[in-house]
Amino acid sequence: MIKEIMLGASRGDDVYEEDESVKSLEHHVATLAGHEAGLFCASGTMTNQLAFKASLLTPPASILCDRRSHVYRYEAGGLASHSQTTVYPVQAITNHGHHITVQDLEREFVIDDGDVHMAPTRLISLENTLDGTVMPLKEVQAIRQFAKANKVLLHLDGARIWNAAVAAGCDLKDYTQEFDSVSLCVSKGIGAPIGSVLVGNKSLIKKARHFRKMFGGGWRQAGGLAAAAHWCIDNVWPTMKETHALAKYLAEGIEREGKGASIYTPVESNMVFLDLAGSGILLRDLSRSLKEKGIRIGNEDAAEAQTQVRLVLHWQISQQAVDEFIGVVRDLATTTSFSEGRARQHDHSSKKQQSVYGRR
Ligand SMILES: *Cc1c(COP(=O)(O)O)cnc(C)c1O
Repeated sequence: MIKEIMLGASRGDDVYEEDESVKSLEHHVATLAGHEAGLFCASGTMTNQLAFKASLLTPPASILCDRRSHVYRYEAGGLASHSQTTVYPVQAITNHGHHITVQDLEREFVIDDGDVHMAPTRLISLENTLDGTVMPLKEVQAIRQFAKANKVLLHLDGARIWNAAVAAGCDLKDYTQEFDSVSLCVSKGIGAPIGSVLVGNKSLIKKARHFRKMFGGGWRQAGGLAAAAHWCIDNVWPTMKETHALAKYLAEGIEREGKGASIYTPVESNMVFLDLAGSGILLRDLSRSLKEKGIRIGNEDAAEAQTQVRLVLHWQISQQAVDEFIGVVRDLATTTSFSEGRARQHDHSSKKQQSVYGRR
């Protein structure tokens, strides 16, 4: 299907804004998000970084974001390098770590009062979903008011905002229209071959397009990729609710059969964060047994001390695959002795939460 769609796409030159399929995708996403214009790019990192760059923050400037944010931790320090900006990371305290609130932001906010030690806050960047959890719309609206009152910009890393809107049962626009700029990935939950779309007002997008070219990200015959993404938004996105239900079902199955395996982040969309410590099951054993069934979770050579793993579900994962996963957990739990599990749990009881992006 995707192949046919791609073959049928236009082959104009997007650097000259002459490709119909790209323009159509950009218009489609901008409309869905309630913004004036869109820019189709190769990656979510690029659309986030372009949003900051096009916001023209002048040093000394700083950004506030959740300390777990992708833009802060997993974009190779791009903010410092591209936008000459520092980050004051915010810890989510008021909501038991679920999401940051206005109160959390107030603690770190730097007023532009001439204090030469500080870099004034110029922009707040939110992420939704973050670790698969959904920031409630009411909180986003309160932060919008806070940003307005303090005259700072508001950006959304909405790589997974499609999931957040579905999980919250609201319109995508309800979330995205609260922001000055939004990055929406099409290669994650949407299932397109590649890409991410940045939306905002016309002047922001014009600047972002200029910087995209400077970064070497101007692409010419991108029509095939845009057409595929367009199709996936219209056809894959509507299946997302089922994927979320399947993630919940997987988490419940693991907790039921895993004899001490725990889910340490609430399952609100398509991600399941699993800690095997209490079960005695080794992550590498789980990974290898699953691989035999054709289920890949990585970490086949995980060190014994690594017990946590992030499982991400997508639209092509079947109920049967999830049942097989739960069956593998059941088998491993049965063959792993309880005392062994307890001993391992004891060994690592003081361990901090491991980064799911760890590649050891
Ligand atoms: C994947 C992701 C990105 C970056 O996307 P890439 O296309 O991998 O560069 C940014 N933010 C979040 C929340 C993501 O999940």
